[in-house]
Amino acid sequence: MKTMTCRQMGGMCDTAITAATPEEMINKGMDHLREAHPEMVASIESMPKDDPLMLDWSKKFMEGWEKTPENA
Ligand SMILES: [Zn+2]
Repeated sequence: MKTMTCRQMGGMCDTAITAATPEEMINKGMDHLREAHPEMVASIESMPKDDPLMLDWSKKFMEGWEKTPENA
């Protein structure tokens, strides 16, 4: 399991999110956005999945995921 903050994933708060896989992290991150930052969800969902901003986000997210150590 790894723990990343909302901010590390491009969000705006320091809520910690724990997940076993990058896919789970993204899903849990989206759940958190729906609860805490619904305005971000609206802008994400209005973008096509292959929008350069989304591709850039995915790349940065995966780099962040790789750099984050496994929880002890
Ligand atoms: Zn947040």
